[in-house]
Amino acid sequence: MPIKKLLIANRGEIALRIHRACHELGIKTVAVHSTADSDAMHVRLADETVCIGPPSATESYLNIPNIISAAEIVHADAIHPGYGFLSENAQFAEIVESHGIIWVGPKPEHIRIMGDKIEAKRTAAKLGLPLVPGSAGALTSVAEAHELAKEIGYPVLIKAASGGGGRGMKVVQSDDQLESLMSQAASEARSAFGDDTVYMEKYLADPRHIEFQVFGDGNGAAIHLGERDCSLQRRHQKVLEEAPSPVITPEERERMGEIVRKAMSDMCYRGAGTIEFLYENGEFYFIEMNTRLQVEHPVTEMISGIDLVREQIRVAQGEGLSVTQDQVHLQGHAIECRINAEDPMTFAPSPGLVTNFVAPGGMHVRVDSGLYTGYRVPPYYDSMIGKLIVYGTTRERCIMRLRRALEEFVVEGMKTTIPLHQALVRDEEFLRGEYTIKWLEQWLEKQRVAAE
Ligand code: ADP
Repeated sequence: MPIKKLLIANRGEIALRIHRACHELGIKTVAVHSTADSDAMHVRLADETVCIGPPSATESYLNIPNIISAAEIVHADAIHPGYGFLSENAQFAEIVESHGIIWVGPKPEHIRIMGDKIEAKRTAAKLGLPLVPGSAGALTSVAEAHELAKEIGYPVLIKAASGGGGRGMKVVQSDDQLESLMSQAASEARSAFGDDTVYMEKYLADPRHIEFQVFGDGNGAAIHLGERDCSLQRRHQKVLEEAPSPVITPEERERMGEIVRKAMSDMCYRGAGTIEFLYENGEFYFIEMNTRLQVEHPVTEMISGIDLVREQIRVAQGEGLSVTQDQVHLQGHAIECRINAEDPMTFAPSPGLVTNFVAPGGMHVRVDSGLYTGYRVPPYYDSMIGKLIVYGTTRERCIMRLRRALEEFVVEGMKTTIPLHQALVRDEEFLRGEYTIKWLEQWLEKQRVAAE
């Protein structure tokens, strides 16, 4: 069924991103927003707007009754959840569908399975994805944990089944730490997610984070769009992402790509998804699957030429995928820098009035941001205020262009992470692509010491 009017249940740059895809398809948009976001760019551009509550996200962007009421009042025939907020809430997806509204996302049952990390690993194993060695399910006793840790070898990692954002994770170095760290992880998980179920994994010493973009039509047709390297992280939060990874060979890409493609085909997955792996010594280890569009999806768009939001809408309308695997051609190199309203050294949030905003431009430079001069960044939400995505025919050219674009980028009135990226893209090890998930924190520490 063709979508005529789509409600965007999100804010910030991703709401704008979805609005743009809709208007290119001739679909009308509805922006729902909190009272803190009345003057946001995507609210200004949307065809209709509905205020759904006060600034607090629980009362607005997470407020299911208000969002559904808004959709009914304006007669929206589809809802796109973006990322974060309600995007991986299976119950919300079910409620949307039960109201006869098209859910631009995966089947609710798949969201539910992948949202429970233990269930996700079980499913991944059945689908033939390689796993990190660890517990078969939840840890049920300390004795069992001791036994298992001996078997897989220290260090081990205790993780929360309902985890997210790196919370509820504890690295255990030896037997005598196990009991207390296990109970700390469980209580952290209980307070963060209301679920104290934990499981165990081998702690990989120095891996890279490599994730594959997948897409399914819901009936068994599926494709992969290659990998993204998201190893540059601070406190498990991604800072800069690139595609392709500087270390994955075409043979590895083809082999793993086919494994994930087949897995999505076998489960009749619908819509966009990301399968995350840790990669060490030439081996891939599945850690989780995200059943949504990712922040870093533009790097894949740059090298594939495929508009992922458009593809999501096609699939939601029942039109199927626009390409088969044979028609996917990955070309060149793309890098994304996440620009946050934060101090580039201390990472303290720095919201406020944008007194001057000049986005870089030129060939192969893309800025996804809702910022404009005179806009006030509200203090209530995530500190990411935009993304700079740059393409080049080779990684070297991409980095040269990225340096140039970062030099042009002006955001005044607040501190941003632009200077951090400017320094990062001049680092010799970064230039050689020699980094793992621990590298950025060590690099930041060196920068901090040098500045003192
Ligand atoms: P979350 O959902 O909380 O983000 P993930 O399972 O995606 O949790 O892991 C987040 C990050 O934690 C990974 O990108 C990686 O940096 C680190 N990590 C997770 N599992 C392991 C492991 N077994 N060994 C080493 N590092 C890990």
